[in-house]
Amino acid sequence: MANGKINVTADNIFPIIKKFLYSDHEIFLRELISNAVDASLKLQTLSRLGESKAELGDLQIEITIDKEAKTLTVSDNGLGMSAEEVEKYINQVAFSGAEEFVKKYEDQSDSAAIIGHFGLGFYSAFMVAKKVEIFTKSHVAEAAAAHWTCEGDPDFTLTETEKENRGTDIVLHIADDSTDFLEEWKIRELLTKYCKFLPIPIKFGTKELTEKEGEGDDAKEIKTTVDDIINNPTPAWTKTPSSLQGEDYKSFYRELYPHTFEEPLFHIHLNVDYPFDLTGILFFPRIKPNMDLQKNKIQLYQNQVFVTDNLEGIVPDFLTLLHGVIDSKDIPLNVSRSYLQSDGAVKKISSHISKKVADKLEELFKKDRKDFESKWDDIKMIIEYGMLSDEKFFERAQKFALYKNVQGEYFTFEEYKAKTKDLHTDKEGKHIMLYTANAENQHSFIQRAEAKGYDVLLLDSPLVSHLLQKLETSNENLSFARVDADHIEKLIAKDEEQPSLLSAEEIETLKPIIEGAVEKSKFTVQMENLNSDETPFIITVPEFMRRMKEMSATGGGMMGMGDLPEMYNLVVNTNSGLVSKIMNESDAEKQKELIAQGTNLALLSQNLLHGEALTNFVQSGFSRLSDN
Ligand code: ADP
Ligand code: MG
Repeated sequence: MANGKINVTADNIFPIIKKFLYSDHEIFLRELISNAVDASLKLQTLSRLGESKAELGDLQIEITIDKEAKTLTVSDNGLGMSAEEVEKYINQVAFSGAEEFVKKYEDQSDSAAIIGHFGLGFYSAFMVAKKVEIFTKSHVAEAAAAHWTCEGDPDFTLTETEKENRGTDIVLHIADDSTDFLEEWKIRELLTKYCKFLPIPIKFGTKELTEKEGEGDDAKEIKTTVDDIINNPTPAWTKTPSSLQGEDYKSFYRELYPHTFEEPLFHIHLNVDYPFDLTGILFFPRIKPNMDLQKNKIQLYQNQVFVTDNLEGIVPDFLTLLHGVIDSKDIPLNVSRSYLQSDGAVKKISSHISKKVADKLEELFKKDRKDFESKWDDIKMIIEYGMLSDEKFFERAQKFALYKNVQGEYFTFEEYKAKTKDLHTDKEGKHIMLYTANAENQHSFIQRAEAKGYDVLLLDSPLVSHLLQKLETSNENLSFARVDADHIEKLIAKDEEQPSLLSAEEIETLKPIIEGAVEKSKFTVQMENLNSDETPFIITVPEFMRRMKEMSATGGGMMGMGDLPEMYNLVVNTNSGLVSKIMNESDAEKQKELIAQGTNLALLSQNLLHGEALTNFVQSGFSRLSDN
């Protein structure tokens, strides 16, 4: 019928396709299959509108590998093409994308920026094939079938052919350097990745030569084909939420992650058609502190075609910790990540998802608070992360974000403010909230706080220091203090002054003696006249420095703070009996030892005595026992 040149000016298009798209060449399969899906869905639509008289039958796409012929074939029984349509859509239109691609990137050597920037659609077949054939027959009754061949250069042939059934077969003669794509396992892997939820059934078969029938030249090869439907054309997220039960969501979760055993805590079914089209199901996984965070669990689909499972920069970061599926017609296919990240529709979708997640959490909280509380410790990391990285989410989270105290009671921030307001306000009118990061290690401090009637929060997630900083900036006259940040009487300073047992001069004399007995670089000595029955020595870690260090370690805060050495305050209770004894001790050596032992005991009570210091301390304790 026709020979001709593909309508492209740059003759070197094919080498460029191979070179620049090389690292991503497996996407050719997604491209061809999504064309087949398009062709099937288009026919469905035409038929529904009465614009096609074709008998729809069972629409289906078939992928076949023929190892012997070294071909991979994608067949559909969709709307097919007439020769004129092949000429138009394959030779001219489809290639204009490729042409644009070449023009734009002719002189650029940065292939990373180029890869995936332009979807080459049909022509991506040439990344893996040395020759591509199209056999196609239009759904329009009188159209003749067409056969198009191209060997990876601008020349093509287009002839009339015989084809029994409506639809299109794309036959790829796999290039010698791409024979992986003739392997069943490889194709199966790609089909599972890209096609698992395509809306048209996908059959996969391998043709193998099993025997010959007949003799000599008349012998016929008998090929057997093993077929499997590999996709679920109607995955849960395409159904209406009211038609699904809890168990359906769980089984969908297992379908998505066949290798995960842990069950999700709850799900959010997204179902929006205005102002944009968005469906999907998100799952909240159980997240434990110190768990490896996985950010590539959510899969992004466009009309059931897999786009990516790397959503970093596409949705708010905290949402990438969720699991599940997001599907939207408005998500562009065939574009690079940077394009996806800056796409306006994608941005809107992303902030909408964040809102939906907040709404759902609020709903769960309101519906069954006890149940929500029981899940809180497993979800708080994601929510706290969200509050820190997404301002709107922070505001919305005020309704459901919880704070747990050491008694195991949960409060919203407003509730907790109201609960502690009166007692926790210091003499300057500042509301101080007390917290511990580790109730075991900070036991003695918690006890001191509770003895005064104070309440102590248990805040142990890794982002706490950032979160507190944020809460402090958005709540005037309110601050957080970890129980070990200072002596409790200092943390929430009230008006009452303790009488001092030692005179000002005595304290002046004692301070340098104590400073001389402890490691100077590690301790700042702080003389305090506390209750006489209070411990003589207390180790505290100043809130500001510690928090800066923590923030620096988890990203943010002041740069370089993470490298600061451990620094403590050594609070010396000048009203205690031991300190009086030290004051009155005339033997300088003995005095030194009393101070060192006292400091070590204080360190030990907080699990801060380690290594050599601990060994020496225990040793000397034992020798004293045997000396007595
Ligand atoms: P796109 O899919 O973005 O339009 P492609 O390069 O993938 O670009 O395909 C170009 C055109 O070729 C399609 O728009 C369609 O008209 C036609 N086409 C490709 N594959 C098929 C097919 N299997 N059946 C019918 N038409 C097809
Ligand atoms: Mg396409």
